[in-house]
Amino acid sequence: MDISIVIPVYNEEDSLRPLISELRGVLSGLGRSYEIIFVDDGSRDRSFEILKEAVSLDPKTRVIRFKENKGQTAAFDAGFKAALGDIVITMDADLQNDPQDIPHLLKKIGEFDVVCGWRYKRRDPWIKIVSSKIANRVRNKLSQEDVVDTGCSLKAYRRECLTRLKLFNGMHRFLPTLLKMEGFKVTQVKVNHQPRRFGKTKYNTRNRIVRGFIDLLAVRWMKRRHLDYEIEEVIR
Ligand code: UDP
Ligand code: MG
Repeated sequence: MDISIVIPVYNEEDSLRPLISELRGVLSGLGRSYEIIFVDDGSRDRSFEILKEAVSLDPKTRVIRFKENKGQTAAFDAGFKAALGDIVITMDADLQNDPQDIPHLLKKIGEFDVVCGWRYKRRDPWIKIVSSKIANRVRNKLSQEDVVDTGCSLKAYRRECLTRLKLFNGMHRFLPTLLKMEGFKVTQVKVNHQPRRFGKTKYNTRNRIVRGFIDLLAVRWMKRRHLDYEIEEVIR
């Protein structure tokens, strides 16, 4: 299997059908084998019914359903563990990421292990854009990073990289840093962003900032305490 698309879903009933048809259009044009894995993070709307129907119509689609809502990192983790593709691509279920960007990410895989999308023209409420700019700046400063837009879900990974990670709740925002710590090559490419057409955002400014800051301190600690020794010689 060449490509696994991993998509966390929490109450996104109206976005799923258009997303699936857009994705199929792009993926079938690539000439590579693929699967689409939806991780239903305990949705309480009709998302799961719609996804089950999609699976029954298309064997390339799978759904993993959580018993209850456990958050985006948990959903990514379950998707990563289930993925069979050599390359794993993550994206949001709400149509804010553009499937047309997938070929651009794929072009850089090979030269790089991880390719992160950067929503250079972000289409969100101003409060979110401003708070996210500040958060990215603080995060980059405190963790000595240069990732412009860590919150963009549209990313491509060589699957091998992901098997090295032990994820914790909230860590999906720090995947580029965690992977760099493991020695992988990470780059960023500009991607499109669309306004949310259906449903609601799952994050408010306050919970993102407070939780994000606590998580940042954890990542900063991990980075500082990271073991990076080189063995010069072994004598037997
Ligand atoms: N999501 C999820 N579990 C959660 C919160 C979000 O699976 O507990 C999914 C959500 O359905 C969407 C993606 O994660 O596909 C990003 O969420 P959202 O669009 O609300 O974030 P925003 O774009 O507003 O930062
Ligand atoms: Mg969104």
